[in-house]
Amino acid sequence: DKLKQGLTKTRDSFTDKINEVLNLAVTIDEDLYEELEEILITSDIGMDTTIEIIKRLKEKIREEKINDPAEVRPCLKRVITEMLLQGDDRKPEGDKHVLLIIGVNGVGKTTSIGKLAAKNKAEGKKVLLAAADTFRAAAIDQLEIWSKRADVDIVKHQEGSDPAAVVFDAIQAAKSRNVDLLICDTAGRLHNKKNLMNELEKINRILDREYSDATKETLLVLDATTGQNAVIQAQQFMESCPIDGIILTKLDGTAKGGVVIAIKNSLDIPVRYIGVGEGVEDLQEFDAESFSEALF
Ligand code: GDP
Repeated sequence: DKLKQGLTKTRDSFTDKINEVLNLAVTIDEDLYEELEEILITSDIGMDTTIEIIKRLKEKIREEKINDPAEVRPCLKRVITEMLLQGDDRKPEGDKHVLLIIGVNGVGKTTSIGKLAAKNKAEGKKVLLAAADTFRAAAIDQLEIWSKRADVDIVKHQEGSDPAAVVFDAIQAAKSRNVDLLICDTAGRLHNKKNLMNELEKINRILDREYSDATKETLLVLDATTGQNAVIQAQQFMESCPIDGIILTKLDGTAKGGVVIAIKNSLDIPVRYIGVGEGVEDLQEFDAESFSEALF
């Protein structure tokens, strides 16, 4: 399937290396753990998360009295699945939803919004886009292209206008058209933390006042090809605004898919969606079990 295909590069580097080491191993000893540790670190899983994985692996191997290296692989898979499953990843409930999408340029923000719009529309929901990234004219144009592609409405103002005003208009349109999902593209970027905070605070105030019956989520878009930098980027965003979930794009183009485990373990924010290609259908809801199934 698409997920499995998307994780090909990650599997080629990460999983194949693990298999190689385990196939050669005769006993489960400290040398073996060190070799596994090295593979994990070089797979963009990060130091802290690697240490945690090895610690849990050792515990499991001890508890289950495993002494055949061939049994380490399924054990490692279980450890990773458990780590991906931890935390509360339930999607927020409610009939009406509003998503604020933030992220730096080029990570796949617009594309992800387009894919989300198409996906929800296909599920029979009424979707509206708000072009509240008014910082660049290109951002508004790009979003409009996606709104046509997904066949959903868009509310836009001209470049340089107040993002909160766009959101205000979009809310009125959402109410009068009985929209199920409002997706707001924001200029929420890191170039200026103070601006980012102010802009999002203003948008949030308007949403709380004008659209309080909708369930709100702020999703941060991260590019998987940037590996550990994606984790650092998320930490920087978290200093400026609360983030409810992650959209991790471009998993298909990278061997750094292990970063999903690092995000999960070090940020305590659910990964909501993953991008596994450029097409409209290539945004999947993240599912821990299918992910580790595709990884191993
Ligand atoms: P933005 O600047 O954050 O809005 O980025 P865009 O949405 O314009 O995306 C930047 C580039 O990344 C485009 O060429 C997209 O087609 C590509 N892209 C976005 N998501 C994915 C993905 O999941 N997989 C792949 N392979 N490419 C993606």
